Amino acid sequence: MQTSYLRPTYVEIDQEAIYQNVHQEKERLPKDTALFAVVKADAYGHGLLPVARVCRKAGATGFCVATLDEALVLRDAQIVEPILVLGITSVQEAAIAASQNISLTVADEQWLVTATELLDQTPGLPPLAVHLAVDSGMGRIGFTEPDALLATAEFLQSHQAEFDFEGIFTHFATADQVDETYFKQQVAKFKAMVAILPERPHYVHVANSATSLWHTDLVSNLIRFGVAIYGLNPSGTALSEPYPLKPALSLYSELVYVKQIHAGDGVSYGATHIAKQDEWIGTLPIGYADGWLRRMSGMSVLINGQRCQIVGRVCMDQMMVLLPKELPVGTKVTLIGKDGDDEITMQEVADYAHTIHYEIACGLKNRIPRHYL
Ligand code: PLP
Repeated sequence: MQTSYLRPTYVEIDQEAIYQNVHQEKERLPKDTALFAVVKADAYGHGLLPVARVCRKAGATGFCVATLDEALVLRDAQIVEPILVLGITSVQEAAIAASQNISLTVADEQWLVTATELLDQTPGLPPLAVHLAVDSGMGRIGFTEPDALLATAEFLQSHQAEFDFEGIFTHFATADQVDETYFKQQVAKFKAMVAILPERPHYVHVANSATSLWHTDLVSNLIRFGVAIYGLNPSGTALSEPYPLKPALSLYSELVYVKQIHAGDGVSYGATHIAKQDEWIGTLPIGYADGWLRRMSGMSVLINGQRCQIVGRVCMDQMMVLLPKELPVGTKVTLIGKDGDDEITMQEVADYAHTIHYEIACGLKNRIPRHYL
């Protein structure tokens, strides 16, 4: 069982916000630049298919995912636009990708050699579209040596029945930082690698959200637009957004139990909260099994526009908050989002948990249903 529909804890996704975030970026790009919406990891926890459909309406021309499985979910849902798998796909799955017109990332020549043998065993397949990854300094996947890249490009050139050399790309490690020294080194390395190719493929791409927002001169002819789709500043707070991004995700729950405790009474595992006087305590049906981390203990939620502290340890499925007074069971609680004049942003949650908003968004489990506005 994945989703708890019969529990008053839910994520709300503002599709209009997603539309705006994509549309604004698309308007800024040169006309012939493709915008591939990065919808991996269930669209950063926002829901793969609904997000993909909104992005398409807003002008996305293709999609990036992390795995072949994610790409197949898009294809099964009649998403016909180009899809690029950003991670390494097992070579045994090359024929599936080719048959579904899904583009794969390739980071070494041997993969292509093995894929050739496998693809040749399945007659009638269209050529498999591949994007060569260049590791210009991310240290994750990709060619680092010009000779190996050139040999692979030549291999692709001589195997056009099996492969369509569709793209070449790199990924930056520091595009979201103020100091551009390392970023510039990566740019130079990528440019030098591309320069050795006898012929450029259709797509040359470097830009994640941060690069497309703050290094507009570098967007080349495709951007891989990810976290900004969801209205989140890729840099956290280090760099200011060139245009307002609108957060798309809110997280709500409600009070399911309210009680008064007295001086000396403890709350939750370890009894880390001990009341000094009479207190009203509300219980919420959300916990670390939902992705609301145990280290969120001590943070606040919004109730009736007022901040209320999470007291005691966050449990697996429940947590407790200190109420200003007795409040009725069923009172709405905002964990991420706006209530009255106040707002708890994903960034605030991430800061409190000593992590990045990406991790908070992706960490919200499928047990929490997503409602689409
Ligand atoms: N490109 C690659 C290769 C990635 O791995 C990612 C995300 O991790 C992205 C693009 C999108 O990055 P962002 O969400 O920061 O826009």
